[in-house]
Amino acid sequence: PLGFRQRPAKPLLEVDRLRKTFSHAGAAAVERVSLALGEGELLALLGPSGCGKTTTLRMIGGFEDPDEGSVAFEGRDITHLPPEARGIGFVFQDYALFPHLSVLDNVKFGLRKLPRAQAQARAEEMLRLVGLADLGKRRPHQLSGGQQQRVALARALAVAPKLILLDEPFSNLDAKMRVETRQEVRKLLKETGSAGILVTHDQEEALALADRIAVMDAGRVVQMGTPDEIYRNPVSEFVANFIGRSNILTGTANGMNVQTAFGNLPMSRAANGAVTLAVRPEQIMLDADPNGAAIITGREFRGHDQIYWVQEGDDCLIVISGPGQQHAIGTRVTMRICDCVVPLT
Ligand code: ATP
Repeated sequence: PLGFRQRPAKPLLEVDRLRKTFSHAGAAAVERVSLALGEGELLALLGPSGCGKTTTLRMIGGFEDPDEGSVAFEGRDITHLPPEARGIGFVFQDYALFPHLSVLDNVKFGLRKLPRAQAQARAEEMLRLVGLADLGKRRPHQLSGGQQQRVALARALAVAPKLILLDEPFSNLDAKMRVETRQEVRKLLKETGSAGILVTHDQEEALALADRIAVMDAGRVVQMGTPDEIYRNPVSEFVANFIGRSNILTGTANGMNVQTAFGNLPMSRAANGAVTLAVRPEQIMLDADPNGAAIITGREFRGHDQIYWVQEGDDCLIVISGPGQQHAIGTRVTMRICDCVVPLT
């Protein structure tokens, strides 16, 4: 099936049907999650709060014992090894910095095996990369939450682990710092050849940072693929709306085409019979038309583009158009759909 086809040739990490239940009454927090990660690959676990991302990551790191399933790293079964015996780096939400050590010494901590001058240079370089070159002498409690988070990142990345687990590592950074830091982190991981698994509920972060994304819902991986594949070809309404926004239409499919209220449209993959379809807001064009069947009912200016809410019959569609296209509320329009629409399961 779609999305599960690209397995890396020689996985660095192989997670097989991991399962974890916290209470016997409730549903499993993680329900048979399988993943494979290649050398140097960045995977994002993306999903809404409570879908089991952190629990999956904690089982990979050895902080949670699975009920069922296995974890293999570099060809070795590590399912029941303690975290420190796994050789995997991690940055969790509570940064766990050493309070009695300076910021620089926190970063140097994992570099004890290097000659002193080399460790010093590497730690300083890492602090510079996360934008904290001037704060090396401070203690963790003298830093803001976002600064502590960057120290934790620098400390984990300094040792260039083969695999690093990152649980919402940018959650305490402001919007600008988040964008900058995630690009630095991606560059750094690619330079050192470290693979990473990033837990996030932020679709933009997953799209920007990851080579592949595993979308999770209620303990399960519901789709896995490159950011482009997942954005263009979501398998379900849940994925279509969790990654970006989508309009949901119905139609009658015949192979690669579908008949809809907007005419006959090409589809991203074949289907037959009654189908539900996802249409991205930027795929819809609006033409001002006094006789148009649709009317603009809402509008949000966003600078680089604008969002319109457009009512046609019983349907309200969301449309994003470039700054050149200005329509006032109440304007009559016709809608055209460009590009392929996506049949959902
Ligand atoms: P968030 O984005 O909010 O951190 P998440 O996707 O990482 O969410 P998890 O933290 O893995 O989700 O939690 C999955 C489910 O397991 C949730 O319903 C949560 O309440 C439950 N859970 C997690 N840890 C425990 C625990 N130690 N004891 C009991 N239930 C737990």
